[in-house]
Amino acid sequence: MKKSYKIAVLPGDGIGVEIIPQGVRALKAAAAKFGIEIETEEGLIGGAAYDATGSPFPEETAKLCAAADGVFLGAVGGPKWDHVEPSSNRPEGGLFAVRKLLGAYANLRPVFVFDTLAENAALKTERVAGGFDIIFVRELTSGIYFGKPKERREVNGEIVAVDTCAYSVSEIKRVAHKAFKQAMMRKKLLHSVDKANAMETSRLWRETVAEVAKEYPEVTLINMYSDNCAMQLLRDPKQFDVILTDNLFGDILSDEASMLSGSLGLLPSASLSDTHGGLYEPIHGSAPDIAGKGIANPLATILCAGLILRNVCNCPKGDELVFGVVKSILDDGYRTIDIAKEGDTKILNCKEAGDLVVERINAATV
Ligand code: NAD
Repeated sequence: MKKSYKIAVLPGDGIGVEIIPQGVRALKAAAAKFGIEIETEEGLIGGAAYDATGSPFPEETAKLCAAADGVFLGAVGGPKWDHVEPSSNRPEGGLFAVRKLLGAYANLRPVFVFDTLAENAALKTERVAGGFDIIFVRELTSGIYFGKPKERREVNGEIVAVDTCAYSVSEIKRVAHKAFKQAMMRKKLLHSVDKANAMETSRLWRETVAEVAKEYPEVTLINMYSDNCAMQLLRDPKQFDVILTDNLFGDILSDEASMLSGSLGLLPSASLSDTHGGLYEPIHGSAPDIAGKGIANPLATILCAGLILRNVCNCPKGDELVFGVVKSILDDGYRTIDIAKEGDTKILNCKEAGDLVVERINAATV
């Protein structure tokens, strides 16, 4: 079994440069517990890369990512670059480019609430008490964000804007397999979310998912319309386990669901490919409002380290260790400023949170 992995580290902009070092420390410490060596090399992406090279995803970064076993990303963007032209040179262009380079078509976003933080959730405590644990599997490289034509044209003397939503059977199949595989490792329950009452792509989505489901007879498949899913997430999030959906619905629904957990600073994500170990990033952005203050919550990034261990290093126990340590810290009442309530006394800054995670990882028996 391979015991040494190369991880490309792209801190990006804003709080990215504060949280990523804590994530890397946690990754190396947890990997070491299982005899795994992590070699890291840093590259530029986003606004920082644009300032240094004129591109949000320079050739050098592309080479670094392609040669790595996995890519660990902080966040990109900020007001400084909001008006860069052409828009493809804005920091987000770096994100699209790295996903494309890696062929990262399946975005996995766990959304969970730690019991100790149920009060922080956007819903009434009784709706989330006892916790919930959902994983979104969102198609990431096709659908309406990528379909062509995507343009403005003049029709009968006025401007008309056009986006195209297109999905092929193979694109739907490959992401559906990823979702069913997740379901097999979890509660064997999968909701496939579409708008088959209104969209042709959704009808093909539904038919194709039904075909793929035949290969996973143990998994219960429930089809749900996206508008109903938006409502059900607020009504009863505990009914869900794995949610499979397309790029547009997944973008919106996973952001809605992230609010159920109470803090953006706690949720990791993984974007998986068939040809590369994938891209790992917290779901939040570069938080320009708090960047440079050293108070960002690094726990989502640290949980990404767990996902790297699970998906790149084939070490699910490493993920469990990282998750357990983060949970223990929250259970013991430690808080970063974004999740603190009045009266909380154990407030940690970004580095202190990282220190405590590493200390507990080092002390853990595996
Ligand atoms: P954001 O996620 O950066 O911030 C939203 C709010 O949550 C802010 O108040 C911020 O301080 C807080 N927050 C976010 N992460 C936190 C953390 N780890 N600890 C403590 N507080 C945290 O979203 P935004 O303000 O809409 O966007 C800011 C910039 O980030 C924009 O340029 C946007 O384009 C970019 N962005 C990048 C990504 C990415 O890199 N994947 C994702 C979303 C937004």
